[in-house]
Amino acid sequence: MFGLNTTNRSVLFWAAALVPLVLVTVTLLVLALLSVKETIRQLGDGYANAYSRIVYSVSMENKAAQVAPTNCHYLQQVLRYEREILEMQIVLDGKLVCSSLGNVINRPIVDLGKLTDEPQSMELVPMPRSQATSIAVINRRVLNDQVYHAVSLLALDYMRASLGYRTEPRLKSAALFIGDQSTPSDSVRNDGFFAYTARTDIPGQEIQLIASNELIKEKGWFYFLAAIPSTLTAYMALFYIRRLLSQSSGIYSDVENAVKHKQFVLHYQPEFNVVSGKVSGVEALVRWNHPERGLVYPDVFIPILDECGLINSLTDIVIDKAMSDFSEVSLSRPFHLGINFPPDYFLVKERCEKLIAHAEQFKANGITLGVEITERQLLSRQAKSAISHLRSNGIEILIDDFGTGQTSLSMLESTPIDCLKIDKCFVDSIGHDSVNVPVLDAIISMAQSLNLSLIAEGVEQLEQANYLKAKGVVVQQGYFYGKPMEITALKLSE
Ligand code: C2E
Ligand code: CA
Ligand code: CA
Repeated sequence: MFGLNTTNRSVLFWAAALVPLVLVTVTLLVLALLSVKETIRQLGDGYANAYSRIVYSVSMENKAAQVAPTNCHYLQQVLRYEREILEMQIVLDGKLVCSSLGNVINRPIVDLGKLTDEPQSMELVPMPRSQATSIAVINRRVLNDQVYHAVSLLALDYMRASLGYRTEPRLKSAALFIGDQSTPSDSVRNDGFFAYTARTDIPGQEIQLIASNELIKEKGWFYFLAAIPSTLTAYMALFYIRRLLSQSSGIYSDVENAVKHKQFVLHYQPEFNVVSGKVSGVEALVRWNHPERGLVYPDVFIPILDECGLINSLTDIVIDKAMSDFSEVSLSRPFHLGINFPPDYFLVKERCEKLIAHAEQFKANGITLGVEITERQLLSRQAKSAISHLRSNGIEILIDDFGTGQTSLSMLESTPIDCLKIDKCFVDSIGHDSVNVPVLDAIISMAQSLNLSLIAEGVEQLEQANYLKAKGVVVQQGYFYGKPMEITALKLSE
């Protein structure tokens, strides 16, 4: 009836329980990896920019020195406090003529025999008295038919510090590639996921970074910790949905159980005859006597019973309860007992015959049984003929909630019915400037002209009672006269 059995439900539940875990784990892994990659990408691009800037500024120094290349003393003074350049040498026609460091000019920075005619070039060269390699920026200028080369050796420590990669814990390694050469010299190209190669502004020169294990671990932990609240939220949502599901499936089995154990009671609402001043009948209204929740009202459980196909079983229980409630009651004046019927109750002949038999028993106690149906139930031919059959056997037919359905006048004329119950919404309009007021008046005069009796529902105020009385609506029902109550609370002798 509910689509899934218990085994399927629990398989579905466990499958659903694992989905967030798997999803979160995979998402977390991907995010952590991407974040590592993004971190080294940002670092790499930053280093490439800084490197390009340093090389540019050194080449500017080279060019400035070549304005007056013979003024070695001036060059030494200017470059004394220069941080980027460890040493600048001026080479004239292939011979070292000046060093910014003073007289130490016996050791050229680059192989002077290999100086090219390029206006600017760069080379990786060994640092003096060190295993390390640094960069030489070479600029060429012809002045007065003489060829000057300004060769600057970058201060490796300054460069590393200003690029930042020397102390960067997020990096396992950083290397500069200039063509086939690299610094550190043993660096190899790496295409792995945790490596990133940033292009500098100088063609053929690239900086390659490899993420450190610390960075990978740090990102992993970060995303793992960040994922805890979202996983918890996902599980709480799952738990909540599951609770709702089990609650709703719980109410279904509860309702089935209620029918099985007949956990229903009837309350009766008086129908008051305003002319005689006496209760002329009652409407039976069912309540579910829930073992834990107490009295539950029909609007809650009738739709569920309808869905489960148990609504007719409920009606059987209601008829039996009414029979037993009224078994001891005997009245000398005409008295009406209205019972609400679901749409297809009368489509089964046996039910009609049984109802006719019950109606005769009620009659023996002075009670006329009334069947409350809605306008919708008059639409099928089969239902119509069953209703005619009931009526011809002494059962009254009442149209419930009249005015809210689609009954045409011709249908009312052609269907044998006894009474219209005017819906509460029309009664509510009394005393208000509402479109329903003329409709109420029209219903009343139409019923009178068709010789149908009327019961006004939901009368709550004296003004409504008086208005209806003045219009000739003799029988009225509503909180003004009495709420639905237990049979023992009814004062039937008054
Ligand atoms: P209904 O047949 O229109 O019943 C009238 C409803 O209006 C009842 O609610 C009643 O308590 C309420 N009522 C009566 N006078 C007043 C009033 O002055 N003011 C207000 N605000 N309400 C008033 P209840 O008992 O909750 O029943 C609701 C609906 O449940 C009924 O509407 C009927 O359609 C259905 N129902 C009740 N008992 C049965 C039953 O035994 N079988 C079936 N199939 N349906 C039933
Ligand atoms: Ca009713
Ligand atoms: Ca009604």
